[in-house]
Amino acid sequence: GVTLRGVSKSFDGHVVLSGLDLHIPAGQFVAVVGRSGCGKSTLLRLILGLEAPSDGRIAFESRAQRSPTKRIMFQEPRLLPWARVVDNVAVGLGEAGSRAAKRERALAVLAEVGLAEKVGNWPATLSGGQRQRVALARALVSRPGLLALDEPLGALDALTRIEMQAMIERIWRAQGFTAILVTHDVAEAAAMADRILVVEDGRVALDLKVDVPRPRRHGDPDLAALEGRI
Ligand code: ATP
Ligand code: MG
Repeated sequence: GVTLRGVSKSFDGHVVLSGLDLHIPAGQFVAVVGRSGCGKSTLLRLILGLEAPSDGRIAFESRAQRSPTKRIMFQEPRLLPWARVVDNVAVGLGEAGSRAAKRERALAVLAEVGLAEKVGNWPATLSGGQRQRVALARALVSRPGLLALDEPLGALDALTRIEMQAMIERIWRAQGFTAILVTHDVAEAAAMADRILVVEDGRVALDLKVDVPRPRRHGDPDLAALEGRI
């Protein structure tokens, strides 16, 4: 899990996050919503250690059976165009280990995301949804303890988005990593997450437990209040 204590972040005197206190238990699926520019991506970058807080502390505890690694997936897949699908996924394993073992592990994860048929393809020959599945496989191949998702499905069509929501949720249920999903889609947040954080004015303005039966849709009375805020 992750614990933030008094975490603030400013850029050139402009306060983005101020005095954030937050605990995300290991294995929880949290969604973060809020208006554009409120600091959602900044929060993920702080949690991933890609950026240092201006103030405060961030601590991690990982489950015994999972690695302490943290991975992030973005709206764009950011694949290497000159590497085949399997090699793009193996990149997520870093330098250590034999080439054969890394390839085997990459193939197993590609099968999990339904891309067994495409392992030898070049990224340019894949659809947008397939490229995002490669990015998901690359993020998961090292069995991270924490997966941050920064609007990973934002550029996909509605049907592909629903398929990938189900895929990510299924893999999360099977593997139990901590997931932090930034999204502009409140229905997506409610469909996937245990908990929804609304970021506003540099703080967590709302911290909601999701315990209403699924699936949920746009226009649900429970979601209407939230939809007005992002
Ligand atoms: P969106 O929903 O549009 O992705 P966001 O909530 O992810 O927005 P952030 O990208 O976290 O927002 O940015 C929050 C604020 O911090 C913005 O005002 C942005 O301009 C500013 N900011 C982010 N990174 C930097 C940086 N490296 N240098 C200066 N300002 C930054
Ligand atoms: Mg962002």
